[in-house]
Amino acid sequence: MGKRNKRTHIKCRRCGKVSYHRSRRYCASCGFGKSKRMKNYRWKNKKG
Ligand SMILES: [Zn+2]
Repeated sequence: MGKRNKRTHIKCRRCGKVSYHRSRRYCASCGFGKSKRMKNYRWKNKKG
């Protein structure tokens, strides 16, 4: 447990989080690739 060979999520170039789905082509954090608009999370703040 704990080890995963394949990375499902890579670093998102928009929010900088490792939430960008490689195969689905969208970010689970900010919604990049899925919707034009940001998910409007607290990522905007200095430290989330
Ligand atoms: Zn993102």
